[in-house]
Amino acid sequence: MTALLEIEDLTASYGPVQALFGVSLSVAEGEVVALMGRNGMGKTTTIRALMRMMPANARRLAFAGHDLGALPSHRAARLGLGLVPEGRRCFAPLSVAENIAVAARPGSWDMTRVCTLFPRLGERRDQLAATLSGGEQQMLAIARALVTNPRLLVLDEATEGLAPVVRQEIWTAIRALKADGLSILLVDKSLKELRAIADRAVIVERGQTVWTGTLDALSPDQADRWLGV
Ligand code: ATP
Repeated sequence: MTALLEIEDLTASYGPVQALFGVSLSVAEGEVVALMGRNGMGKTTTIRALMRMMPANARRLAFAGHDLGALPSHRAARLGLGLVPEGRRCFAPLSVAENIAVAARPGSWDMTRVCTLFPRLGERRDQLAATLSGGEQQMLAIARALVTNPRLLVLDEATEGLAPVVRQEIWTAIRALKADGLSILLVDKSLKELRAIADRAVIVERGQTVWTGTLDALSPDQADRWLGV
């Protein structure tokens, strides 16, 4: 399999405080990779560094054959990295349709196609994002990333804080995206769902990759040690 994203020995700091000490991971074309680890171990920081939203160093940081390390954030996005950030971050004063319109770039994902994935967004196309439920805002955040027509979809805690039934709707959508062949890197705490969907997992502990493999190969002891489950 061709690697779409390759990260080797990523380090990053918040001012004087180092948060990443050597994260390595890769995502192949069409692969779904889970980035896991307990709270504060560096998952969100890895994503922010990957998206070029904070300064970082790496032995290798390559996406689709480009050296990401050399690029500012907006250029990274244009190469095909589509981020669904933690905390959703839709534009509250804009409607659903406007939120999607401002994010859209040419490709097969457009308003019509995201409404097939999330019919509720179609029903609420003129509603302001601020007045959507948490689950609907999450759907909108995913839709906004999809209409950039990414080659890699990066989801940071997309099911966090949602009611179980809404969570299931989000997982159903992620499964459909996987079936469609989209490459996905996702952070989530639900081991059960990740076991079902992730081709591989990467576990970080104190800012370092400590384990990579299929979740079937993760022993209960390891899950307890690194994931606290
Ligand atoms: P969670 O599951 O709680 O979101 P995480 O694995 O995503 O955790 P990060 O948010 O990446 O963890 O945090 C990694 C480390 O960096 C932690 O020690 C955290 O305190 C620190 N950190 C995160 N954001 C900042 C910030 N803005 N300023 C300073 N330190 C930060």
